[in-house]
Amino acid sequence: MTRSFCPEIVGSFSTGAAANPTVAMMEASFAHEGLEWIYVNCEVPAGELAPAVSGAHAMGWRGFNCSIPHKRRVIELLDDLSDTARICDAVNCVVRTDGRWVGHNTDGVGFVESVRPVVQPEGGRVLVIGAGGAAHAIAIEIARAGAAGVEIIARDPAKAAALADLVDRTTAARGSAMAWSSPMSVPPGVDLVVDATPVGMEPNVDDMVEFDLESWSSDLVVADVVPNPARTRLLQTAEQVGVRTIDGRGMLVNQAAENIRLWTGVDPDRSVLRAALDAALG
Ligand code: NDP
Repeated sequence: MTRSFCPEIVGSFSTGAAANPTVAMMEASFAHEGLEWIYVNCEVPAGELAPAVSGAHAMGWRGFNCSIPHKRRVIELLDDLSDTARICDAVNCVVRTDGRWVGHNTDGVGFVESVRPVVQPEGGRVLVIGAGGAAHAIAIEIARAGAAGVEIIARDPAKAAALADLVDRTTAARGSAMAWSSPMSVPPGVDLVVDATPVGMEPNVDDMVEFDLESWSSDLVVADVVPNPARTRLLQTAEQVGVRTIDGRGMLVNQAAENIRLWTGVDPDRSVLRAALDAALG
């Protein structure tokens, strides 16, 4: 086959783009899968999103990721939304489909895929800490995957109640809100605890949401969304008391894999993405 000197283009629009390791995963995966695609990681300030999207359209980009601060604002620039993006009111992956921009939210799918090797969500009870963007995507997608109950704890009780209500209204799972306490107790019957806050992220690696460890059953699973460091203080604590853990890099890898699948139609090798991410973040 003749080589094309005009590769397919995807990329990312965010601020703080220089700290985003996604490009390392994408380059490794495109090379491994033999895809003549490139990923352009762009620093796009809040007021410049519309011209950036117009430029991507003019240049025939096949799609793009959106991160802070564009996940909500991009919606008014799109032609359609996936169900999860509509429910969460946030988009992290845009796909050009028949010339139209369609917004998806792949964070939750990435999270659910990352928990499956350890625990199945169907029929389970999940406790989500936080009520921001990651918490929304996780709570909605784990409910759509078949969890029976999703409990939300956030330091702002109104935000916790609003997310619990969203789960209740838009999925078959029962959503409920719990009051924040420190240390935090895990109610009996909870199978999976997800810390969906940035607590413990570089450089604040000694920080941790404090738990009453007596409330942790031996078959509990503890997940953290923070991708850097991979072994947060919360996960180290869980390992010390013999509780199974899921790190935030799995979510990042699996949402990247889902983005590649949506853009290219190729279901990529996750181990290549994970190795590239580990090499990029150390
Ligand atoms: P948001 O700012 O949208 O939400 C953060 C949430 O955490 C809010 O509920 C916030 O509460 C709460 N929070 C923040 N600091 C504290 C604290 N010290 N104590 C208790 N609660 C706190 O952020 P995102 O949801 O977008 O991101 C959260 C984390 O998830 C980040 O570390 C991000 O890197 C990670 N992430 C990981 C992904 C992955 O693929 N692994 C994907 C997306 C995000 P309040 O509203 O009161 O401020």
